[in-house]
Amino acid sequence: MLATISSATLAGVDGRPVSVEVHVADGLPGFTIVGLPDASCREARDRVRAAVISSDCTWPLRRITVNLAPGAIPKVGAGLDLPIAIGVLMASGQLPAVSDLGAFGELGLDGSVRAVPGALPLADAIPAERVLVPATDAQVVGLVVGSRVRAIRMLTDVVASLAGQLPWPDLPLAPESPPAPPMLDMADVRGQPSARLALEYAAAGGHHLLLVGPPGAGKTMLARRLPGLLPALDPAQAMEVTRVHSAAGLSLPHGLIWQPPFRAPHHSASMAALVGGGSGSARPGEVSAASNGVLFLDELGEFAPSVLDALRQPLEEGVVRVARAGGTTEQPARVLLVAAMNPCPCGVGGDVGCRCPASTRARYARRISGPLLDRIDLMVHVDRPHPSDLLGGSAEPSSAIAERVELVRSLARDRGVRCNAELQGESLAQAAPLEAEARALLEQALLKGQLSGRGLRRIQCVARTIRDLDDAGPSLRPCDVMRAIGLRSRAPIGGADA
Ligand SMILES: [Zn+2]
Repeated sequence: MLATISSATLAGVDGRPVSVEVHVADGLPGFTIVGLPDASCREARDRVRAAVISSDCTWPLRRITVNLAPGAIPKVGAGLDLPIAIGVLMASGQLPAVSDLGAFGELGLDGSVRAVPGALPLADAIPAERVLVPATDAQVVGLVVGSRVRAIRMLTDVVASLAGQLPWPDLPLAPESPPAPPMLDMADVRGQPSARLALEYAAAGGHHLLLVGPPGAGKTMLARRLPGLLPALDPAQAMEVTRVHSAAGLSLPHGLIWQPPFRAPHHSASMAALVGGGSGSARPGEVSAASNGVLFLDELGEFAPSVLDALRQPLEEGVVRVARAGGTTEQPARVLLVAAMNPCPCGVGGDVGCRCPASTRARYARRISGPLLDRIDLMVHVDRPHPSDLLGGSAEPSSAIAERVELVRSLARDRGVRCNAELQGESLAQAAPLEAEARALLEQALLKGQLSGRGLRRIQCVARTIRDLDDAGPSLRPCDVMRAIGLRSRAPIGGADA
């Protein structure tokens, strides 16, 4: 007998529909899975057999063939355990054949149904009328497939319900997810006027930022407050972020994610961890998990140069493309990059107190020079706050800064882009005409070789943001351009005189 159950497998951040066909026939007892299963998927054999026996059903001592169609797409992970088990029970006549049934979930040997990464995109890809999902995933899955979801805790739940002995278990009456904790506030940051301003420029214009300063200066504290300055996610962005986090196997304790994400991968992160890919399902990397939010690279100089190089394409295009046997997957990667580093290996920097030999400082500066640095528009020096700052009153709160940020973002939308950093070509020329003196300043910088063609565009974009935050006048003044050039200066790395 033949039984067919709908399911799905994960490819990047997308679910691909999979039809699980189970055939039970006379012949030598055996259990074969075909259709490009990976190692974990092939191991379903042993889990499914144990789970079926633990659920007081009979394991058919006949020839069992499982076909995962379409055969050209690789099937990854343990999520096909549940549909295979249901298929075996149907094809061996222990359950009535039901059409239009979908399922995914990993089986424990005791018949329990466990969560799998990517519940949200998986459920979305299953066209069936009823979709059985692990109970722990049910709430977040309910966000996309609504009343089609059936939450399953044990394989016995499925058996009892399909046999008509029990009604389908009710969705646990949506205990409202606890609200996400409030975001960190700029009111906690004492002093640091130039870093505060740079954070505001970064948030308003979407300009990548590098914070340079000694350990303990508060670089991480500043970076962590950046998501609170960004505009809240709209429903489509919230769904995109939640899908990516689901596919990456990250927990979703607060249901749909409404806050711009903040991801801070360690400097030992591999290329696959940072940009996604690797073997198997092309799991999304940190740059995708940070999409629509902030990617924070602390100790930038410690990241492997090849890993940083891999960030170039995503930063430029806003997507990561991962080629796989089953086709290319595209994963979102529209991030605001914030990096932090010490001014030199000893951390002191400057001319006084630094113990690093000049050659060490030069090598340190070279490590992060080049193409990635070229894409960083704002560089500020962060010093340890002055004692009088620490004792001073509270500073401007994030909510006030976020209002100005939103204003600049709405100006950018009027110009047809998401943020000023995306302006280029004709739209940049129209949105940011240069006053004569400002043009002369840029010409000088180009002639002296202080600026590249790409640098020129980026300086105009930053100057546009600076003027937008000031009085939103129509053209770029010399002072706007001067400040933008100053913020792009690489002086703080490798010491003040590098
Ligand atoms: Zn030093």
